[in-house]
Order: sequence, then C-alpha cells, then structure tokens
Amino acid sequence: MKSTKAYAAQSANTDLAPFTIDRRDPKPHDVQIEILYCGVCHSDLHFARNEWGMTVYPIVPGHEIVGRVTAVGGHVKKFKVGDLAGIGCLVDSCRECENCKEGLEQYCLEGAVFSYNGNERDGSGNTYGGYSKSILAHEDFVLHISDKLPLDAVAPLLCAGITTYSPLRYWKVGKGTKVGILGLGGLGHMGVKLAVAMGAEVTMLSHTPSKEKDAKRLGAHQFVLTSDEEQVKKVAGSFDFILDTVSAEHDYNFYLGLLRTNGVMVCVGAPPAPATLPAMNLIFGRKSFAGSLIGGLPETQEMLDFCAKHGIVSDIELISMDQINEAYERMLKGDVRYRFVIDMATL
Ligand code: NAP
Ligand code: ZN
Ligand code: ZN
Repeated sequence: MKSTKAYAAQSANTDLAPFTIDRRDPKPHDVQIEILYCGVCHSDLHFARNEWGMTVYPIVPGHEIVGRVTAVGGHVKKFKVGDLAGIGCLVDSCRECENCKEGLEQYCLEGAVFSYNGNERDGSGNTYGGYSKSILAHEDFVLHISDKLPLDAVAPLLCAGITTYSPLRYWKVGKGTKVGILGLGGLGHMGVKLAVAMGAEVTMLSHTPSKEKDAKRLGAHQFVLTSDEEQVKKVAGSFDFILDTVSAEHDYNFYLGLLRTNGVMVCVGAPPAPATLPAMNLIFGRKSFAGSLIGGLPETQEMLDFCAKHGIVSDIELISMDQINEAYERMLKGDVRYRFVIDMATL
C-alpha cells in the first residue's frame, strides 16, 4: 500500500479538502501513473454533492486523468516506465460478457468499475479518482496519449471527448448530417469540434448569448440562442441529430421540436430530476430519443488517435488543486471556457 495525497468530499454539503488515500501496490497487469493533469467534469460535481443519490463518501472525483507511467507490473506489455498514459471513467469490468467482448466495457453486464465511486471487483473497496497524485489500473484500461498535443488540454478528451465522440460515431454523423449541439460547456465544446471534424453541418444551441463568438471560433457553422423565439423558429424541424449535453433541468420536448422527421436526439447530459416526455412528441415525425454513456476502451483509443490526427484538444483553464471548490461554483454558473483542468503539481 502506498499512501497518496488526494482531495475528497466527505459529505454532500462539505467542500472538497485535502485527504490521504491508500493505493495498492502494482499487481502483475497494473500500470501505475503519476497524475500530471486531471480535468473537472460536471459529473464530478453531481457526484461530490450526491445529486444522483449514489455517492459513497469519502469521494475523490476526477476521471479525465493524464500523466506518466512510474511503475508497471511484471506482465504488462503495452506500457513501460516513462510513457505518457491516460485513464478515463473506467478502471475495470468483467471482460467476459457480450458487451465487454465487443469493447463496450461501459455497459458491462456485471457492472463496470468506474474510476471513482466504483466497487473494485476483488471486493477491496471503493475506487478513488484523479484528484490525487497517482492511480493504477489494469493495462487494458489505460490509454496511450500522443506526445504531439499539449498534455493538459488532452486530459478532458478522456471523458468530455469520448462521451461526445461515441454517439456521433454510433449515429453515423458525418458529411451531410445537420447536427445541433445543445449546451456549450465541457462536453458541448468537444461535441462541436468533433462533429465539425467529422464533416457535419453544426449548429450550437445555447442559452448564453455571450458564447456566440466562441461557438463560431470552435467551428460551429451557426449559433442559435435558445431563448430567442425568432432564432429558434428558423431551425424548427431541421436537425437530423441533436446531442444534448445540458447538466440542469430543461424541457426535452422543446428540443425534440427542432428535429426533422426521423431525427434523433441523444442525451449525454444527465440532470438529476426526472423529465416528462409525451409519446406524441416522438410519434409525430418518427423521432428517437436516446442516451449514451461515455465509450468503451477501443473507441476511447480511437478517439484519442482521431484527435491527435486532427489536432483536436480541449479549450482549458488551468487551475490549482485548492481552486476546485471555486471552480465548481463557476461551473454551476456556466462560467467556464470550456473545461477546468487541475495542475496536479499543485497538490
Ligand atoms: P458543463 O461544462 O457545466 O456544461 C453544461 C452546459 O449546459 C452549460 O455550459 C450550459 O451551456 C448548459 N446549461 C446549464 N444549465 C442550463 C440550463 N438551466 N438550461 C439550459 N442549458 C443549461 O458540464 P459538462 O461537464 O459538459 O457535463 C454536462 C452534463 O453531462 C452533466 O450532467 C454531466 O454529468 C454529464 N455527463 C455525462 C456523461 C455520459 O457518459 N453520458 C459523461 C460526462 C458528463 P449554455 O450556456 O451554452 O447553454
Ligand atoms: Zn465526466
Ligand atoms: Zn462485462
């Protein structure tokens, strides 16, 4: 066991604060990583404050993890000490169910093990995430990171990147697809960049007027302020695909109205409150309403390689570890351009 510095929340209504965790010694297939940067996802906030009602305290959030390999177990083949490496939202799964065999470890039928607030499969307890100095995982759950991109700005690809890449790929978004990205935050800004790189015609749907310029700079072909009736009217019934990244309660029916016949709206944003959705809003127009959870390991590597090839990284604001509580408050106000990343050297 190695005692490791971290930041944890002890309850739903206490700030995150310094905390020491024990990390296991590397097992034969483990890769141990010194964490250099960790992105701040809105899910970290939902979990720290128990907004989904499933948090086990103390919780050490963080699942956009990049760093350098400091030790490998005797059977590790894919990594060596000194390599750049990343860990996203998953650290383990059964590897034997039909989903795992297809590389859809996030949908493991036995229950995937998430990087934090997850249950270790050997019963050794709860997992702790990336707001810490180091982490280990089986090499199958560790990603290769390109040294051609700025490492701090790569970190958010491990969740915001794959969470938007996966549905865009699954629903075959590309040239000729009219895409609406709903919500310009951490996920939304990656959604814009990726959908544009895939060749789609991309419209940013945002409730914040001041984000128009950024949306265009990020590559969006069009910006629609969702509170402006005139602007919304112009795009009603026009989208093939809407990717909903909104973290707070909102009316799905309003956005379903922007889909054309046979259009698909996919939720990745996960507001805690349940929503009302009359069947008629899907029936008229044969519309689909779907969800998507991060992405599996092969697809996450594919996304990282795609981003390296296209020079895509996240737009970030680097913060120190002790700014995390302030960063959560700013994230709640939509005041982030467009992802906070913690410089772990400050812990
Ligand atoms: P974020 O950076 O805080 O962005 C959320 C965006 O939602 C905001 O920037 C804002 O965009 C919009 N928004 C916020 N409140 C709103 C409201 N009341 N009405 C309309 N729009 C509002 O969060 P994130 O890190 O991108 O995460 C977004 C959501 O995805 C969270 O719920 C998170 O838990 C979830 N998530 C899901 C997965 C998955 O696998 N499915 C993975 C990661 C995260 P505008 O200002 O442009 O309107
Ligand atoms: Zn996340
Ligand atoms: Zn499985």
